[in-house]
Amino acid sequence: MAAKKSRKSAALTKARMQEIQRIIGLNNMSSTPIDLRNYSRALEEKGQIAMRSGKTGVPPDLVAWPASTGQVSRLLRLANEQKISIIPYGGGSNLTGGTLVENGGIMLDLKRLDSIVSLDDKSLLVTVQAGMIGETLERELNFSGFTLGHFPSSIYCSTVGGWLATRSAGQLSTLYGKIEDMVVALEAVLADGTIVQLRPRPRAATGPDFAQLIIGSEGTLAVVTEATLRISMLPEKRIFASYLFRDLADGLDTIRLIMREGVRPAAVRLYDETESGILLRELDLEVSGNLLILTFEGLEEIADVEAGIAAAIAKKAKAKKMGEKPASYWWKHRYDVSYQQSRIMPNAGMVLDTVEVATIWSNLQNLYEKITEALKKEAIVTAHFSHAYPEGCSICFTAIARTDENKAAAKLDRIWKKALDVTVKAGGSISHHHGIGKLKAPWLKSELGNINGLLKKIKKGLDPNNILNPGKLGL
Ligand SMILES: Cc1cc2nc3c(=O)[nH]c(=O)nc-3n(C[C@H](O)[C@H](O)[C@H](O)COP(=O)(O)OP(=O)(O)OC[C@H]3O[C@@H](n4cnc5c(N)ncnc54)[C@H](O)[C@@H]3O)c2cc1C
Repeated sequence: MAAKKSRKSAALTKARMQEIQRIIGLNNMSSTPIDLRNYSRALEEKGQIAMRSGKTGVPPDLVAWPASTGQVSRLLRLANEQKISIIPYGGGSNLTGGTLVENGGIMLDLKRLDSIVSLDDKSLLVTVQAGMIGETLERELNFSGFTLGHFPSSIYCSTVGGWLATRSAGQLSTLYGKIEDMVVALEAVLADGTIVQLRPRPRAATGPDFAQLIIGSEGTLAVVTEATLRISMLPEKRIFASYLFRDLADGLDTIRLIMREGVRPAAVRLYDETESGILLRELDLEVSGNLLILTFEGLEEIADVEAGIAAAIAKKAKAKKMGEKPASYWWKHRYDVSYQQSRIMPNAGMVLDTVEVATIWSNLQNLYEKITEALKKEAIVTAHFSHAYPEGCSICFTAIARTDENKAAAKLDRIWKKALDVTVKAGGSISHHHGIGKLKAPWLKSELGNINGLLKKIKKGLDPNNILNPGKLGL
């Protein structure tokens, strides 16, 4: 079993270790080989292919589990003075190599910051520490009659801080928004240990929004320690509806028109013919086409009206009504994707990955067709459209292929290169919700244009010693 050697941070001397011990306590830090090895791998598919032959990435020098914002601040101040890298770590569920280690340093696992700080049921706000696991937060809110409305497929193994750092999207984002739409305030620690606390307010006109600068910065500009998020009342009613379209274009137009009417389904998922086929077979339905799944939730009267308007739009597009079953089946199995991948990926020669991109309605089908065409020689490609907005939608492609084990990593590289080259050229966005990490960094410059230089200046201003998550977002 080979593990890459760490170029151990020269500054992480015995004396520095003792200082860290004084800050967080001996039991809350580890440099045992097994812990370092565990934190040197990530869930991104290339890492999983490497793991099949026992290879992991560069290990950190130390794993630290701070328990308070004060401890994070003291650790960062020390790391900044000694130029030691800090890699913020939530659940480690990112798919972009966002927590991979470049050159040793401290893996800052925030999972001990795992409490709800306050619940303001009058303002519909929850203040929560960054290391709390999503499912735990959602359950706690449900006990009090609320929901966050954020349901990524990784909800059992991802944290609030990780969501914010990657601009995550949940399965019901069309109704509740992406995580960045839910943030009302946050607390973060800058590279030099400064604690920044933004106060909750409904909206403000007090200059640029610092929270939105930190959100999506993937641990490169600050460590998020706490966030105040909008919550909603638990829905009174949930409606499941499904439709089948002969042409993908009709399905896409139906979603676009639903959004245009101001109707907000909770889940919107239109599967292309190949992906629909898989679902329809699981349901023992002998039909073909492009399956659209919609769910509506909230107050009974509103959900009923919204489902009615959507049904009328689908009817006009000559969709076949498929009833509740496909949608309720999806609902029941909505987290299964996590387990399907873990069945396939350990097998030698298998390559399986998802590529999530986004664009505006006027470019959506074009982008879908271009990526499908570009990937068809490399893999079996399926796609679904989800996370709909009045102005556009995201597309999630799944590429699956079998090859010689020693060619699997190169095949995966080709899949990514072809998909993202085409996305940039066609004017799409290279990421809708998984972020950039290391994986997509080579394409970020093309997407951002001269804003990329601005991002580098901001990084230099906030983290001049480049201690925070070096190498991610191309920084
Ligand atoms: C099976 C599976 C399904 C998935 N489904 C979805 C989905 O539906 N929607 C979706 O959006 N994503 C999904 N993902 C991707 C992943 O879960 C998200 O990117 C998630 O937001 C990462 O959260 P995490 O806590 O695991 O963060 P990590 O993986 O630990 O870290 C992600 C990035 O955030 C940084 N970071 C972590 N915590 C902090 C902090 N407190 N302050 C500053 N930076 C921090 C890290 O340095 C890293 O750059 C899925 C992943 C898997 C494995």
